[in-house]
Amino acid sequence: MQVQKIGSRGILFNLPSQPFSVQIYCINSPNYLFIIDTGVVLENQMEDVKQYLVENEFFTKPVAIINTHQHHDHMGGNHLIDAETIIGHSMFPERLKQTIELLVNYEAYKLEIENFAPPTQTFDEKLVFDEEGVELFYSPGHTEDSISIYDKIDKILIVGDTLVHPLPSINWYDLDRFIETLETYKKIDFEKLILGHEKVLEGTEFIDETIEYIKKFKALEVDFTGFTDVHALMYRWGLVNLAKNLKRAGKEEEAKRYLLKAKTDIENPIIKPKDEREYNGLIEEIEKGLKD
Ligand SMILES: [Zn+2]
Repeated sequence: MQVQKIGSRGILFNLPSQPFSVQIYCINSPNYLFIIDTGVVLENQMEDVKQYLVENEFFTKPVAIINTHQHHDHMGGNHLIDAETIIGHSMFPERLKQTIELLVNYEAYKLEIENFAPPTQTFDEKLVFDEEGVELFYSPGHTEDSISIYDKIDKILIVGDTLVHPLPSINWYDLDRFIETLETYKKIDFEKLILGHEKVLEGTEFIDETIEYIKKFKALEVDFTGFTDVHALMYRWGLVNLAKNLKRAGKEEEAKRYLLKAKTDIENPIIKPKDEREYNGLIEEIEKGLKD
């Protein structure tokens, strides 16, 4: 685990995980300790964060956990922290049900699911902690229930998985709304962007790159030049996950478009997974999606 002080009151925890490291960000404001996302509980990462916060005496004020969205690698450790409130978007509980539907198929996640602690406080568009200089706002794109956090004092924008490096993680069908969210980010006066995985970035260049990629992705015109294994991973699962989400929303024809593209592209050596199990899993998902 790496710990980095950011600005006047931020603490960034970077925790090793695969394929991306996990980042947990704390804002030590006058009246609250905000803990943004709670990591992968399977790897006991939140325990390390908690220990650091205990040893450095950060638990002297009420704790507010903020979950950027309901994916388990962002909220799996909620129950380990004694928090006064757990905050998420109003769509979080409903979307969490879908995540659980997927996870119950894996024995390894059984205990984690039993311990899930969903938000105790939700909001639709905005939630402002005036005295603390902290603003939470709705920022759908990566998922429909995604939120972002802006620390006004340090000018830090915490984006969860709305930005993923090197390529966006596409799961939700409304790609135009995703782009809208990214355009909103560009209007915010931030010095640093804290991503949910791997990176701390500055400037708007990566936001523009992400917008361009999403536009190309939507048009099924992504250029694979310079693709690494991680690019290929994000791309092939983007196609399949988006198709699944479209089907769930009853958009069969659009789903088919992405599934057929996935079927072709996973035979391309640049996109094809090296792992046989992943390859077979993808084929299964694609065939199942095209059949029903
Ligand atoms: Zn996510």
